[in-house]
Amino acid sequence: MTEHVDVVVIGAGFVGLYAVHRLRDRMGLSVLGFDTASDVGGTWYWNQYPGARCDIESVHYSYSFSEELQQEWVWSERYAAQPEILAYLNHVADRFDLRRSFRFNTPVESMTWDETASVWQVHTPTGTVTARFIVSGAGNVSIPKQPEFPGLADFAGEVYATHRWPQQGVDLSGKRVGVIGTGASGIQLIAAIAPEVEHLTVFQRTANFATPLRNRPTDLEEWEKIRANYPQIRVASRNNFLGVVTDPPEPSAKLADPEQRRARYEHYDAIGGFHLLMSSYADLLLDEESNETISEFIRSQIRARVTNPAVAELLSPRDHPYCTKRPPMETGYYETFNRPNVTLVDVKTNPIEAVTPRGLRTGGEEYEFDVLILAMGFDAFTGALLAMNPTGRDGVTLAEKWNEGPRTLLGIASEGFPNLFMITGPQSAVALYNNPLAIEDHVEFASDAIGYVLERGLSTIEPSVQAESDWVRMINEMADMTLFPRAESWYMGANIPGKPRGLLTFVGGAPAYRAICAEIVENDYRGFSVA
Ligand SMILES: Cc1cc2nc3c(=O)[nH]c(=O)nc-3n(C[C@H](O)[C@H](O)[C@H](O)COP(=O)(O)OP(=O)(O)OC[C@H]3O[C@@H](n4cnc5c(N)ncnc54)[C@H](O)[C@@H]3O)c2cc1C
Repeated sequence: MTEHVDVVVIGAGFVGLYAVHRLRDRMGLSVLGFDTASDVGGTWYWNQYPGARCDIESVHYSYSFSEELQQEWVWSERYAAQPEILAYLNHVADRFDLRRSFRFNTPVESMTWDETASVWQVHTPTGTVTARFIVSGAGNVSIPKQPEFPGLADFAGEVYATHRWPQQGVDLSGKRVGVIGTGASGIQLIAAIAPEVEHLTVFQRTANFATPLRNRPTDLEEWEKIRANYPQIRVASRNNFLGVVTDPPEPSAKLADPEQRRARYEHYDAIGGFHLLMSSYADLLLDEESNETISEFIRSQIRARVTNPAVAELLSPRDHPYCTKRPPMETGYYETFNRPNVTLVDVKTNPIEAVTPRGLRTGGEEYEFDVLILAMGFDAFTGALLAMNPTGRDGVTLAEKWNEGPRTLLGIASEGFPNLFMITGPQSAVALYNNPLAIEDHVEFASDAIGYVLERGLSTIEPSVQAESDWVRMINEMADMTLFPRAESWYMGANIPGKPRGLLTFVGGAPAYRAICAEIVENDYRGFSVA
């Protein structure tokens, strides 16, 4: 007999853990979770590469749903490293007894809507489970981008990828290492491994605007203050555009006095993290001239830190405005290129021709190394969802429906796929919203919607065609008001060959997104068809 539950939850990261707790423990539903991984943690289970850490301050990059949890956990650094975040998620799993609701090492291979029974059939290698609802926490940066160059299988040395780093670690000491990719993960990894390897060759296609993280250890005194004020901190975060706490920005960079502007940039650069973006000027993502002032400030910082002017220029982004790609945060990244054992290779001018048995060929030259590390980014937002092959009403697949780009309402649900909630899905507010809080908001919206359907003895909830079209149009109109379309970024789906190009995230900020969600709920799920 086919096993049946109220809700299937996919993924055991920040989303899956909270979803199981909320649906099972607070709402009393039967819940079954699946994860391909062998344990909890999601992003922080898979991305165990040297240097991996969050770049939103840990006081914000953590759950807010349980005051007891907040009170009992203290982070050792301003920005926690991967082992500590993984330990935290394990603690959450233990504390709320969540593991018993998950089947690990079990990928969801496909899911099919059964119109007659009004249930989803969820197919895994170990069998089929039916569920009235699905809450997907499959992750929006969990499916890697595939290499576009040939020859990987021919490489005679070791190959690793940041997104699947071996749990037992890798000994790189004394080895010649090649790294492909200088996005957020590559930048963390490169700075961390440079001192230990014999030689490091960095293959850069796109220079990024990396700015200082300014990480430091924290002490108990600091945490006492935070713990005494968590409720206020969380309210302030949720009222902040990015879901953190920052100073309010001045209105316009281009209208500011140049000396005061530089002083402001220097001040927030010294504080570190996202404060430079969030607290300097409000029009950085809207006005090219304003954006150029901060772009040039960051380039000047790079020139001041990198001794070889040609290398500094190569590291200076010229092909996109600041923050139209996910801005990485760094600790000593630029100084890495002053080391005698580090070489930067431009693979934009001379694209990678092939990986060879001994290394990599580009521009007619072969670079040799013992270990190759891929840090090439993700098939973001849609990759993990489409990989589960959802088939909705009338046999239409999600891939067919999203042939020309995602169509959703709130980035949470898509018409024709009833009772399927895509937490932090494409066109949701996640890319510019501190993820744990964004995730809590989305999980709460989904679980409340499930409660609404069940309490009324109804069967299904899904967006109306009109409301979905309106949301897609609004996402595109908002995109056109910003500088985001100016970059070939994963925000735009432009890093994956063949992927439809379009902004994949709501860029109106956390407070606006939350207000829209609240308004929909207050008006009996306006824009959703409930039957
Ligand atoms: C290196 C790195 C650093 C980051 N730093 C930050 C940060 O500082 N701030 C921030 O806000 N965000 C950051 N992020 C984004 C991060 O992904 C989120 O913050 C958060 O961890 C996402 O949680 P999640 O539960 O949505 O997804 P994930 O943590 O990605 O978990 C998804 C889980 O679903 C499982 N899964 C996927 N498909 C299937 C399937 N078909 N069947 C079964 N299981 C499946 C995966 O195995 C995975 O365990 C970072 C991401 C990376 C990669």
